[in-house]
Amino acid sequence: MALLRPFSESQMIFLDNHSTTPCDPRVLEKMLPFFCDSYGNASSAHVAGLAAHRAVVEARSSVAELIGARADEIVFTGGATESINLALKSCLRPGSHLVTLATEHRAVLDTSRYLAASGIEVTVLPVDSEGLVQPEEVANALKSNTVLVSVMHANNEIGVLQPIGAISSVCRDAGVLFHTDASQSLGKVPVDVDADGVDLLSGTAHKFYGPKGTGFLYVRRRHAGKLRSSPQMHGGGHEGGARSGTLNVPGIVGLGEAARISRVEMIDDGLRIGELSRSLLGDLMRSLPGIRLNGHRTMRLPGNLNVAIPGVSAQALAEYLDGLCLSTGSACSSQSVEPSHVLLALGLSEQEAYSSIRIGIGRFNQPDDIAEAVRRITEAVHNLRAIV
Ligand code: PLP
Repeated sequence: MALLRPFSESQMIFLDNHSTTPCDPRVLEKMLPFFCDSYGNASSAHVAGLAAHRAVVEARSSVAELIGARADEIVFTGGATESINLALKSCLRPGSHLVTLATEHRAVLDTSRYLAASGIEVTVLPVDSEGLVQPEEVANALKSNTVLVSVMHANNEIGVLQPIGAISSVCRDAGVLFHTDASQSLGKVPVDVDADGVDLLSGTAHKFYGPKGTGFLYVRRRHAGKLRSSPQMHGGGHEGGARSGTLNVPGIVGLGEAARISRVEMIDDGLRIGELSRSLLGDLMRSLPGIRLNGHRTMRLPGNLNVAIPGVSAQALAEYLDGLCLSTGSACSSQSVEPSHVLLALGLSEQEAYSSIRIGIGRFNQPDDIAEAVRRITEAVHNLRAIV
């Protein structure tokens, strides 16, 4: 169905679905009326405002349903970076202690650095060679002044899924809040804030086929006061005072629709995408002996492959591949030529990190894309190795 293949018009093959995902055409269709027809301000009391308000209410319920939350526990934001800033900065005061992970996204690590410079004590835990942290290590890091633990659900580079249920249970026993950055896992694997014991959760629409620039923060109801008492945006008191600013109605509607579709299709999508990943990895391993999968083999997102290809610069490979879009590390900061902090945290050498590529398979990829990717990557690696 042409409708379900938004990038089919070009030769491009998009295998970079961790950097972002294409907006699902069904999401776009749901958003469009809210630009020029139902353009009311969701805070206005007249008929146009009420139409927008109703759409926001529906979207809020849909997002809440995706994670097993209540609608009034969702705060809409401009994306996961903002949600993470709001979560961390609202919970922590000088003298309090934060525990996080070496492999977190920069939205968490840089915010933690900022907080450390503002008098907050920060512990950054290492991970093992497969990218995992054990709950006991989190337990050992807790102190009497620990207020918050922030551990991501799925890693954006290696797709590794942390045992957040076990980690949150350690936190709960110690009376410590647990925040998870679920940007990469939402819509890909089930997340349930009660079963997973999460107090705060950050998400962003563009990682699960919604629009860019729209996200949310889930805050367990009994902690909502923390956000209201220290919002990052001051102004009209929107979102219960937690995030002022006129609501981005089309974006929120898109986020809600993306959440609804994911809820219905996540399991089937995951099975199909997992099959494509296994096929791609198997074919690559046969055609390029010596390549190695980075990160835990099974505790990872179904669409993630991060592989080290010895003897090849990933940067040169990505440039050679041109229309085959994949990434050489964290695409969110791919301007950087630094080796990936995630791969270094796993114990890879700088050289291994520089020769690693990240492939992200998504909802719109087809078996043809995988076959073509194997063909192009194999040819590129042989040619690049011949040059050296
Ligand atoms: N956290 C993770 C794990 C991510 O992959 C991203 C994406 O870049 C973010 C946070 C930031 O999300 P956003 O760009 O929506 O602010």
